[in-house]
Parts: sequence; C-alpha cells; structure tokens
Amino acid sequence: AKQEGRNTYRFFTSQMQAQSMRALELENALRRALERDQLSLHYQPQVDATTSKVVGVEALLRWQHPELGMVSPAEFIPVAESSGLILPIGQWVLETAAQQLKVWRSKGLLHITMAVNLSARQFHQPQLPDLVRDVLRQADLPPQCFELELTESAAMSDVPAAEQTLAQLQKLGVRLSIDDFGTGYASLTQLKRLPSYKLKIDQSFVRDLDKGETDKAMVNAIVRMAQAMGLRITAEGVETRDQLDFLQTLGCDEAQGYYFSRPKPAAEIESFLFQRTV
Ligand code: C2E
Ligand code: CA
Ligand code: CA
Ligand code: CA
Repeated sequence: AKQEGRNTYRFFTSQMQAQSMRALELENALRRALERDQLSLHYQPQVDATTSKVVGVEALLRWQHPELGMVSPAEFIPVAESSGLILPIGQWVLETAAQQLKVWRSKGLLHITMAVNLSARQFHQPQLPDLVRDVLRQADLPPQCFELELTESAAMSDVPAAEQTLAQLQKLGVRLSIDDFGTGYASLTQLKRLPSYKLKIDQSFVRDLDKGETDKAMVNAIVRMAQAMGLRITAEGVETRDQLDFLQTLGCDEAQGYYFSRPKPAAEIESFLFQRTV
C-alpha cells in the first residue's frame, strides 16, 4: 500500500509538471496563433424556444494548432486570461464577429443577433466600451443586434466597477447577457443592479433536468425570477426533445444546444440560419 501511495504521488507530480509545461507552451503558442491566423470563430444558433426560429448566434473561439490539433477554449481561455493575451484576442473576436454579422446582414439575415463572450479581464478594461463602439461603427451595425455575454462570476467579481462598465455599454445600446447563470454567487440585490437583458441558464441544470425534481424546480425558479425581473431567458446545452419540451412548458424564451446545432464555421452554419430565419 505504501508503494502504491508513492507511485500515486510521483504520478501526480509529473502530471502537474506536464500541466504547467503545457500552460507555458500554450501561452507561447497562443501568442503565435494570433499572429498566424490559427484562431477562428464557430457559431452556434440560438433559437426561439417555441417556434425554433433562429434569433441569434453565439460566437465561440476555436484554435487549430498545427501539432496539438484543436485546442479547447476551456483550456486556452484561462491561459489567455492569466497572460493578458485575452485582450488582443478578445479584440480580434469582437471585430471578427461584428464583420461576420455585417456579411450575414448584407445577405438578408437582418433579424439575428450576434453574442460574443467576454472574459473578466476584458470586462475590467476601462477601454472596453470605446472598443465596442468602434467595432460596431466599423461594421456599421445597429448596437441592439450585438450581445455581450459575461459570466455570472465575472460580473460579480467587482460589482461597482461592473455597474459602471455595464452602464456605459447599455448607453451604447448593446445587450448584456449573464452567462452560466446559477453557477456563480450573484445575490438578488447585485443582480437587480446590473442592467442586464438576458440570463443564460447554465447547461449543468439543463443536463440534469431528467434526473429528478430538484433540477426541474431550480430551473423553474430561475425562469420565474427572470420573468419577474423582466429579463429574457435562454437555456444552454439543450440536447434532447424532452429537455426542450420541459423548457418550453416553463416559459423559457430561447434555447441553444446540440439538439439544434453544434457550433460550426460561418460557411457551414449559414444554411441553417437561412432555413430557420424569421
Ligand atoms: P460558454 O460561453 O458557456 O459556451 C457554451 C459551451 O457549451 C461551448 O463550449 C459550446 O460548444 C458548448 N455547447 C453548446 N451546446 C451544447 C450542448 O448541447 N451540449 C454540450 N455538452 N455542450 C454544448 P466551447 O465552445 O468549448 O466553449 C467553452 C467556453 O469557452 C465557453 O463557455 C466560454 O466560456 C469560453 N469561450 C469560448 N469562446 C470565447 C471567447 O471568444 N472569449 C471568451 N472570453 N471566452 C470564450
Ligand atoms: Ca457564452
Ligand atoms: Ca454558458
Ligand atoms: Ca460555461
């Protein structure tokens, strides 16, 4: 048993070393990726929960590394965040998503919104509202078709600063969504102070909907609260017809998930958008 313990320990040490090596490697590689055009955006439709018509898309970052293959944002976003690379990367995401929406609008898709994820670090940049304004101007977009998704925990990490930034963004006319809702620690008081437009119920609740009454009751409570606050509500991670049916019954406004479509490159998602347009 003793020997086993030592092996386990050694295993973890080398695994941890490998992990921090990989983090450093990733940071350097990510720096080059930005210069070498290895980043791209995939888009996942957001649909009206009742009609299944497309109301918008969410832009999701992808990194195709020549040797590592497709690196998951769950892995590289934290590295980008801690190294500060998230700022130039985030700017690239905003610009690229805005230009894509401009292209889609020119092809007649006038009723879709573009949702872009913001990291905590980007959100705490005082220049963010100016950047968003410039990006919208360059792409000639009406601000209401642009949505910024901010995780509940990022929005809550510094509420007074968040309030100011959010107020400026709201003045611009862009919409604000609270992402991963239910996984952070927002109090109702904090939530009430944020000028948000939409709550996105975290996919962990949706995934467990069929596991029992507790998750159903929680999703129900979140939807009722959002309705009372006049917020729109989107369910993420919808994978089955049963999940969709239940969310519909509750009065969820929008749904997003593999049941409708996986995130795909612009050229591959286009036909879906045209088929389900309002
Ligand atoms: P998120 O914003 O919560 O995005 C939803 C994630 O769930 C995406 O993972 C999406 O591909 C995945 N997903 C969508 N539908 C389903 C489903 O039906 N089932 C399951 N199991 N998963 C589904 P992805 O693309 O790997 O992104 C992971 C996270 O990385 C995102 O979570 C977001 O926090 C972050 N991220 C992605 N792109 C960006 C970006 O441009 N900027 C920043 N700051 N973060 C980003
Ligand atoms: Ca999101
Ligand atoms: Ca989410
Ligand atoms: Ca998430």
